[in-house]
Amino acid sequence: MISERVKRVQESGTMRMKELAGQKKAEGKNIISFTVGEPDFDTPKHIVEAAKKALDDGKTRYLDAPGLPELREAVANMEKNDNNVPCDKSNVLITPTKQAIFETILATINEGEEVIMPDPAWVTYEPCVQLAGGKAVPVVTTDEHEFRILPEKVAELITDKTKMILLNSPSNPCGAVSTHEDIKGLADLAKDHDLLVLSDEVYEKIIFDGMKHHSIAAEPGMFDRTITISGFSKTYAMTGWRLGWLVAPKPIFKGINKIQQHSITHAVSFAQYGGLAALTGPKEPVKMMVKEFEERRDLIMKLIKEIPSLHCDKPKGAFYIFPRFDQKMPSEELALLLMDKAEVALTGGSSFGSAGEQHLRISYATNKKNIQEGMGRLKRTLEKI
Ligand code: GLU
Repeated sequence: MISERVKRVQESGTMRMKELAGQKKAEGKNIISFTVGEPDFDTPKHIVEAAKKALDDGKTRYLDAPGLPELREAVANMEKNDNNVPCDKSNVLITPTKQAIFETILATINEGEEVIMPDPAWVTYEPCVQLAGGKAVPVVTTDEHEFRILPEKVAELITDKTKMILLNSPSNPCGAVSTHEDIKGLADLAKDHDLLVLSDEVYEKIIFDGMKHHSIAAEPGMFDRTITISGFSKTYAMTGWRLGWLVAPKPIFKGINKIQQHSITHAVSFAQYGGLAALTGPKEPVKMMVKEFEERRDLIMKLIKEIPSLHCDKPKGAFYIFPRFDQKMPSEELALLLMDKAEVALTGGSSFGSAGEQHLRISYATNKKNIQEGMGRLKRTLEKI
């Protein structure tokens, strides 16, 4: 009954562990969840109020597929001012971030074409490429280079079938942040080999230690070959709103917009008013959340040093750590064992690609008390395994 296309694709490892943790909690287990990357903060009040007002004002009808014009303009302004991306609102399409990735890949990748992407990488990139009939080509990143995607490694993988390089900085699951040198090197490769770049920048504001985020679309000659994708979920604690955006050069925008028209039509109308308030309103809530994430990162790094079988360097962005473990068992098995014995839910590294095996992903987007308690439980349990 199921298409061959769908059979090729694996279930989402992050969503599976989130759901399993939820089931265990419903059974009365006292689970601490380090599974999905979901900020535990409430969406800032002014954003919620703007969406409520939109509902009260009857903003509940169809919009044009690319989204609310004022929001497209606000995104273009943000991308220009913060990231130097030379766009205007006609390049901006509002859609959930995951949908933006899916639509972009579906609109650009032909049967048999190759997309070079990091390994480990977020669980959803490869399935998007597989559903489009393309082939994901992993570029292995290691802790030796802070899990950054190195241009020289990418260069080795380019063939005449390569169509796209997929970037993600700050990264999920490793918290890696590309340097400006990395970005420049990757831009040169894309130009030399006439490749597209999909740059998932959804963690762009969650960056620590004074690091700076660099958008590859801002590099000379890159705008016309880059699709920049970002969103509201992580920066503004708006995961349930399903709201994000992409910025694409005109010909690609047109192709992507066809998929938007034929699939979700447009992102939820009143949610887009919330998005507008997020981009144009006070920035203090974001500063507060990022500061808190940095403190949590420091706390979890301190606690992980007390667990002899886990090894991990300090990540510079996002809200994940991706430690290597010494136990001799598959990461999936260890994750299930820890759920059972420690009542701590996390994601096995192999969900993020074969280079993720022997690792665990811990999302620390939860409060310090949970981090303290959860890491204590991991320490006590891992000592016995
Ligand atoms: N992106 C988040 C994560 O990796 C949310 C879950 C998902 O979409 O995979 O945990």
